Amino acid sequence: MVQSSNAVKERSIYNIWDKYAPHIKIRRAHTDMCTVCDKLISRIYRGPRDDTGKQAAKAQWEAHLQHAAEQGARYKERVLMSKLQYQNLDPATKTFSPIDGQSAVRVISFDFAQSVEVPHHTDQAGAIYFKTPLAIHVFGLVDESNSLAYYFFTNETNCIGPDGTSSHGPNDVLSMLDFFLKQSDNGERNLCIYADNCTGQNKNRFTMGYLAHLIKTGRHDTIQMHFLPPGHTKFSPDTFFGLLKRIFRRFSIDLPAEMKTEIASKVASSHTFDKDDEPEWI
Ligand SMILES: [Zn+2]
Repeated sequence: MVQSSNAVKERSIYNIWDKYAPHIKIRRAHTDMCTVCDKLISRIYRGPRDDTGKQAAKAQWEAHLQHAAEQGARYKERVLMSKLQYQNLDPATKTFSPIDGQSAVRVISFDFAQSVEVPHHTDQAGAIYFKTPLAIHVFGLVDESNSLAYYFFTNETNCIGPDGTSSHGPNDVLSMLDFFLKQSDNGERNLCIYADNCTGQNKNRFTMGYLAHLIKTGRHDTIQMHFLPPGHTKFSPDTFFGLLKRIFRRFSIDLPAEMKTEIASKVASSHTFDKDDEPEWI
């Protein structure tokens, strides 16, 4: 039996490993990978040795990765440019002058996270195991220009469709986007949106119709909508979802209202909204 006095911390084991066998690594899971990558990797590394198409597959994979990398670089570049423009905001009024506003571009990005369930206890009591928890849907919107994160929480009792249905459709996305845009105006005339390449949520006629409505009603002069290549959509909302998940795992949360206060108090530069508390959120 192992004596607790002989035990060492997990970190110590990794330190010894790093010192004496630095060449042995634990392979990390590829998160930035799509079905095209998966298919090509299988052919290149696990296909038959006499496959003459391997070279072509390798070239195809390199071109595919380069395209994804270029799109990611463009995204970062647009965010950086916008942040620089937002440094010119009038410190007192937090608005652009009319001339600066003409060229200013607000960059936002949004996505849905995996839903979480409450009540959630770090030490889950046995009895709750047999009950059905309440699913909370999490929508994250990042105002890249101002480095602010917005979390929107809906649950089965207050999402748009009856009985918890239609929680991730275009109606839901647009209701939250509209709510955000109504209260976020620094006088910029241009908007740039990055979203997931998903037809059910973002890439559809309803979203395009809503954006056309914004232009027609004079809210913006130009709007760009970008979709990162499917499977290669690592962008700011993912970072904030990671923070949310980390907090969610470490703390006990019983009610949707607690979720809102816990996340807002623990994630810096974040705002949280629960549908039940926001009459303006349609
Ligand atoms: Zn890929």
